[in-house]
Amino acid sequence: MKKYNFNAGPSILPREVIEATAAACLDFNGSGLSLMEISHRAKDFQPVVDEAVALFKELLNIPEGYSVLFLGGGASLEFCMVPYNFLEKKAAYLNTGVWATKAEKEAKTFGEVVEVASSADKNFTYIPRNFEIPTDADYLHITTNNTIYGTELREDINSPIPLIADMSSDIFSRPIDVSKYALIYGGAQKNLSMAGVTFVIVKEDALGKVSRQIPTMLNYQTHVKKGSMFNTPPVVPIYCALMNLRYIKAHGGVKAMQELAEKRAAIVYNEIDRNKLFVGTAEKDSRSLMNITFVMKDEYKELEKEFLDFATQRGMVGVKGHRDVGGFRASCYNAMTIEGVEALVACMKDFESTTF
Ligand SMILES: *Cc1c(COP(=O)(O)O)cnc(C)c1O
Repeated sequence: MKKYNFNAGPSILPREVIEATAAACLDFNGSGLSLMEISHRAKDFQPVVDEAVALFKELLNIPEGYSVLFLGGGASLEFCMVPYNFLEKKAAYLNTGVWATKAEKEAKTFGEVVEVASSADKNFTYIPRNFEIPTDADYLHITTNNTIYGTELREDINSPIPLIADMSSDIFSRPIDVSKYALIYGGAQKNLSMAGVTFVIVKEDALGKVSRQIPTMLNYQTHVKKGSMFNTPPVVPIYCALMNLRYIKAHGGVKAMQELAEKRAAIVYNEIDRNKLFVGTAEKDSRSLMNITFVMKDEYKELEKEFLDFATQRGMVGVKGHRDVGGFRASCYNAMTIEGVEALVACMKDFESTTF
C-alpha cells in the first residue's frame, strides 16, 4: 500500500532526493568510493558545500554580507549559541511554544531575558501580535513556525533590534526577506534534509559584539572564517540538503513551494472546518501551512483512537498529534503532494460517513 508520510520531523523528502543521496552513499561521483568514506576536504566534496551555499543564497535571495553555515548540534545547540554570541546584557524572546520556551531558557543562563509576549495562556494556539520590543535589548528571538502547536508567523516582522529566528520547520516554504534578520537557523530534518545538520544564515557584521570569551566551536565567527570546515561537517546530510535544494530550484523555487503549501493547507483546513467530527486547534489567523493540528470535537473525543487506526490502515503515517496538543497533526512539508493531502481528506470524509 502507498504510504503518505505526515511525520513532523524527521520527515518526508522527495523520493528523488533520497535516491540521489543513497546512490552517492554507494558511489560518490563515479569515484568508486562512498560519500561516507571520502575526506570532507577531498576536492570532490568542497563543490558540494559551495553549491549548497550558493543555492541557499539564490533561492532565499540572501543579500551580500551574510554567511550560510552547516553545523552540528541541531537547532537545540543554536538555542545556546545564539545567546553565547549575541547576548551582552539583555535579550527579548517571543514565546510561542515548546521550542521557543527552550530557546528562552538557554538565554537565561547568559543574562536578562524579557519575554515580549507569550501565548502560553491558551496552550500556544495563537501567535501574539502587537507586542512591544525593548529597544535596549541585544536581539529579539522568534520561532516562525511552531511545529508542535501548528501556528506560524508568516511575515518577516520589523524589529528595531537585531532579529533572530528559529525557522526549523518552515525554511524554504516561502520567500523571506533575509535582510530583516541578523541570524536565521534551523535543524535540517523538517523541510531541508535528513537529520544531522543545522543550517545558519548569519549577518557577518552582527557578530563579534559580545565581550565574553566564546569557546571555539560555539563561536559563529570560527565557522564563518572556515566556511563550515573548521572540523568535519556532516557530509551525508549536507549532500542530501544539496539534492533537495536542487529539487526546490527545479520545481520553481520558494515561491512555487509557497503556492503548493497554501494549496495543500487549504485542502486540509477546509475539510477540518467542514467535517462534523473535527476541529482545528490553532486560531485561524495563526494557522501553520506546515503543521496542521486538529482534534475530535469534545462530543466525539472517544473516536480519536478509532480514526487513527482507520487512517493508518489507509496508509497515513505520523498523523498522531504531539502529546501536548493531542488529536492529530498532519505535517505538510515541501515534499508532501496534493495527492497525499487528498488521501488524508478522503480518510476524514469516509470516517465521518461511517460514523453518522
Ligand atoms: C524540531 C525543532 C527544533 C529542535 O531541533 P533539533 O534539530 O532536534 O535540535 C527546534 N525548533 C523547532 C521549531 C523545531 O521544529
